[in-house]
Amino acid sequence: MERVYNFSAGPSMLPVEVLEKASKEMLSYNGTGMSVMEMSHRSAAYSEIIGSAEQTLREIMAIPDNYKVLFLQGGASTQFAMVPLNLLNKSKKADFVNTGAWSKKAISEAKRYGEVQIIASSEDKNFTYIPELNKECFSSDADYFYITTNNTIYGTRYSSLPDTGDVPLVADMSSNILSEVYDVNDFGILFAGAQKNMGPAGVTIVVIREDLVGDARDITPTMLNYKTLVDKGSMFNTPPTYSIYIAGLVFEWVKSLGGVKALEEINKKKAAMIYDFLDNSTLFSGTVRVQDRSIMNIPFVLPTDELNAVFIKQAGQKGLVNLKGHRSVGGMRASIYNAMPLEGINQLVEFMKQFEIDNK
Ligand SMILES: *Cc1c(COP(=O)(O)O)cnc(C)c1O
Repeated sequence: MERVYNFSAGPSMLPVEVLEKASKEMLSYNGTGMSVMEMSHRSAAYSEIIGSAEQTLREIMAIPDNYKVLFLQGGASTQFAMVPLNLLNKSKKADFVNTGAWSKKAISEAKRYGEVQIIASSEDKNFTYIPELNKECFSSDADYFYITTNNTIYGTRYSSLPDTGDVPLVADMSSNILSEVYDVNDFGILFAGAQKNMGPAGVTIVVIREDLVGDARDITPTMLNYKTLVDKGSMFNTPPTYSIYIAGLVFEWVKSLGGVKALEEINKKKAAMIYDFLDNSTLFSGTVRVQDRSIMNIPFVLPTDELNAVFIKQAGQKGLVNLKGHRSVGGMRASIYNAMPLEGINQLVEFMKQFEIDNK
């Protein structure tokens, strides 16, 4: 069976080993005579599945005991509202950095509930860089400080985190969680939809420091109150059982490869292969300021829209699919999450080399 190299920004590739394991367990999981999809979320077998998914995630991210791990629904986008509902409760002020479409969506949700200060933005250059952060602009009494660690659409990434002192740092890590080592202690909350680097769509991981749970606004719907979900171990209602199971298999896969540190090394190597080619090409160019380049999402362009279209079409014929860039950037984007093998990058770069020769 032919599998393509899928450069989609999300949902995206999953490790073949994970898909094979899931397929073996499809009809009867571990002697239960049923698929994980058919199991009660209250059954012993399922408790084991969700418990070990959490345990493995705690191991590979080195999540300290004073942080809770939640498996939620509604995507990363629901966190845009959940965070302010639960955290904007003292000064009712929050600081945001605007690094693109996902930050903007988070900003517009937070504005419903309090005072939002945008302390820096890279909108002036279509978000092709991470803006300098001047600590003097930070609100010392803010309820939280919000960033998007990796900007999926534009291909930018913070190479260091802002030092926010006692103000909890909240991070949307949807497109780079598990791609490089982070110290969870640096965050009040980090969250990520699973469908980029952890599993199928349908589950969102939230890692939240204990002291930030339990002080939500009165108007907070029960299902959007972190306390409800913490108290019930993500099972106030039926959780996305199958997505959690697959995410658990992905966490095991990460662990089996040597953990996040090992993947970070591979990811840096994969990204460098593409950036090195772009930097030496006279036909292709990258769109992001060098020091802010993402190792997960790599946008690049050819001199004309016609050539971009030809490239995308011919790449597709070679089994290099979903390379079309986001409409707000144009050109191409290679999303190279953890599950994209080195061989996929090899083939992409070889194809780009040949394309350059043919189109000079
Ligand atoms: C994909 C993405 C989102 C949206 O995720 P959903 O799970 O679809 O809501 C939010 N933030 C970032 C950085 C993303 O890449």
